[in-house]
Amino acid sequence: MLKKGDSREMVQQVPVVDEADVLVAGGGTAGIVAALAAARNGADVLLVERGGCLGGMLTTGNVGITMYTKFSAQPEEAKRDQRTLKEKPEQLQIVGGIAKEIGDRLLQTGIGIGNEQACGRYVFTSPEDFKNLLFQMCAESGVRLKLHCLIVDVVRDGDRIEGVVIESKSGRQIIAARQFVDATGDGDVAALAGAPYTIGITDDDLCASPDNLGEMQVAGVMFRVAQVDLEKTLAACRENPERFGRHRVGGLDLEDVIERFHRNEMAIFSIGTKDLGRLQIYNLPNPGMVTVLGPQLPKVNGLDADDLTKAEATMAAMLADWMQKLRQVPGFGEAYLVNVPEMGVRETRHILGDYLLKFMDVYERREFPDCIGFGAHPIDTVPRPKWLQDPVAGLPPGWFYQIPFSILLVKDLGNLLTAGRCVSATHEACGCIRTTAQEAAGTAAAMAVQRSLTPRQLPIEDLRQKLKEQNVLC
Ligand SMILES: Cc1cc2nc3c(=O)[nH]c(=O)nc-3n(C[C@H](O)[C@H](O)[C@H](O)COP(=O)(O)OP(=O)(O)OC[C@H]3O[C@@H](n4cnc5c(N)ncnc54)[C@H](O)[C@@H]3O)c2cc1C
Repeated sequence: MLKKGDSREMVQQVPVVDEADVLVAGGGTAGIVAALAAARNGADVLLVERGGCLGGMLTTGNVGITMYTKFSAQPEEAKRDQRTLKEKPEQLQIVGGIAKEIGDRLLQTGIGIGNEQACGRYVFTSPEDFKNLLFQMCAESGVRLKLHCLIVDVVRDGDRIEGVVIESKSGRQIIAARQFVDATGDGDVAALAGAPYTIGITDDDLCASPDNLGEMQVAGVMFRVAQVDLEKTLAACRENPERFGRHRVGGLDLEDVIERFHRNEMAIFSIGTKDLGRLQIYNLPNPGMVTVLGPQLPKVNGLDADDLTKAEATMAAMLADWMQKLRQVPGFGEAYLVNVPEMGVRETRHILGDYLLKFMDVYERREFPDCIGFGAHPIDTVPRPKWLQDPVAGLPPGWFYQIPFSILLVKDLGNLLTAGRCVSATHEACGCIRTTAQEAAGTAAAMAVQRSLTPRQLPIEDLRQKLKEQNVLC
C-alpha cells in the first residue's frame, strides 16, 4: 500500500502531437507580445497556456497596465507631464510596438481607459472584453493556441530544448519546436530544463541581510466591486480633503482625479478609511465598477501548492471582512464583490541569464549597447536599501531605464529566451521590470529560426534595427 514519503517511477511513451518554429510558454502579457512578434516575423508560432484565456494577470488578475510613459514623482512634475500627455504624448512615451498597439486598441474600443490622447501611466480594462481582443489579435497574426495545457517537463538534448511536455485532459503529450520563449512568470520551462535560477532576495540585492535571504515580494489580489457611486466617494474626499491621497505612481491631485473621472479617463486615487487604512481605488470602463487593491500577504511561496491553497482561503475570509468595512466608505454602501481573482504572485524564480539586472542599473539608468526596450515602473520592493527610504521620491523627473537583451538569454541553453517576470533580474530590479513585456524575445526567436542561428548568435544591431522597424522604442 502507498504511504506518504514513498515514490514510484512512472514510465510512459508520450506522443509528439505538434511542432512549431517558436513555442511560447504562457499567455500573459509577456507571452502574448512575444507570440505576436514572432508570428508577425513569419514564424509558425504555438502559444501554450495552462488556463482557458489569454492575458495572464492583466485579465485573470484584474491588474492594469503600467507604464507607457516616463515617470515623475513630484506632484508639480506629474502635473506638467499630464499636460504634455495631452499635447505631445510622444515626448513622454517610452513604450511602442505591440505593447502600445494593445494599449491603443484598448482605448479605441472602449475596453480600456487611460489618458485622453495616449495610454499614459495606466490603462485599466474590462477584463472579459480584453480576453476577446487578445483572441482576435492572435487570430489576425496567425498565432496558434493551445489552452488548458500545463507544461510539466521538457525534452532536452545538450544545450537545446527539443520539446515541452504538456499535461491536459487529453493526457500527456509532447510539442516539438526550434525556439522556445519562457513567459510562464515562474520560469517553469527554464527550471524544468535545468537552467540556474535564484528565488527572492539574494546577496546581489542592496537590501540583503542574513535574515531576509530568499524572501519574496508580497502576494495579493486586485478585486473588483460593483454598484459603486464614485461621484459620492470623490465628493467625500472634497469635503474631507485629508481623506484623499495621491496614488504614488498616478500622482494626480483631487481636482485632476475628479476632472478625469468625468472625462471617463483613468483616475486612480486613495481614500483613508477608519478600519482598513488607505485604500487604492482604480476606476474602470464599466460604469459603477471599480478595482480595489486588496490585502497583501507576506511569505506566500508561489511555487508551493499548499502555500497557495492556504493563501486563497485566507484571502477569501479577509475580503468578506473587508467588504463589510468597505460599505462604510461613502459611495460603497450598496457595493458587492464581482470578482476575486486567484492569488496574485509578484515574484518567484529569476532565471539567470547572460547578464543579471540589478538595482543600480535601474536606479541610475545604466545604458546598455544591447538595449531592447525601456521601462519606468518604479522599484516597489520592501525592504529597501538603508540609504534610500523612498525610491519613488528619489527618482529624477522623467525617469526611465533600459532593458538589455542579455537578461533574456538563458545561461547554458541555446534556444530558450525568457520574457516577463522571470527574466534575469535581482529581487529589487524585478520590482520594476516584472511589469514589462519584451517584444525582443519573440522577434529574436523568429529571426533565429530564419537564420538557423541561436538568439545569442544574432548580431544585436540587426535585432535592434528590426525592433525599431516594429516601432519598439529602444
Ligand atoms: C496584486 C498585484 C498587482 C499588480 N499591479 C500591477 C499594476 O498595476 N501594473 C502592472 O503593470 N503590473 C502589476 N502587477 C504585476 C504584473 O501583473 C505582472 O508583473 C505581469 O503580469 C507579469 O507578466 P507575465 O506575462 O510575465 O506573467 P503573467 O501575467 O503571470 O502570465 C504568465 C502566464 O503563464 C501561464 N503559465 C504559468 N505557468 C505555466 C505552465 N507551466 N504552463 C503553461 N502556462 C503557464 C499562466 O497561466 C499565465 O497566463 C501586479 C501584480 C500583482 C500580483
